[in-house]
Amino acid sequence: MKGERREIFNSASVGADKCTFCKIAKGEFPSYIVFEDETYIAFLDINPFSRGHTLVCPKAHGETVWDMKEAEIGGLFLLAARVSRAVVEATGADGFRLLQNNGEAANQVVAHVHVHVIPVMMSHKGKPMDRIKFEGKEMEATSAAIRKALARA
Ligand SMILES: [Zn+2]
Repeated sequence: MKGERREIFNSASVGADKCTFCKIAKGEFPSYIVFEDETYIAFLDINPFSRGHTLVCPKAHGETVWDMKEAEIGGLFLLAARVSRAVVEATGADGFRLLQNNGEAANQVVAHVHVHVIPVMMSHKGKPMDRIKFEGKEMEATSAAIRKALARA
């Protein structure tokens, strides 16, 4: 069926030049990077739900998965699955969430496609999770442990 395609609204929508995740991908903004290649980058969420909460992104700017090439969508989720193994190993988690929000209605805060890898413990079961803050030293140690686990994978 032809016709108008429905748009996904996000009041946080910005061009690539003002996008925080584009700046992280270009190395212009500091982050705790756990993985990087030509197409993707993964780094710690600075407002995590748990220790080791990682974001996996395409380097190319796009707001939702609809803005991505299909092959790169597949690659993004494959990488998220690979990163999840390292995150669980590095944090000793009992499980993990893969979560990908598209649009403000879905609580997408940064308007650049990203997959959340959120390690969870049995103590989290059935409970809502709040954002927590870690010291820079802890973030560095966590990202180093994830990088090490990824290198072994
Ligand atoms: Zn971007």
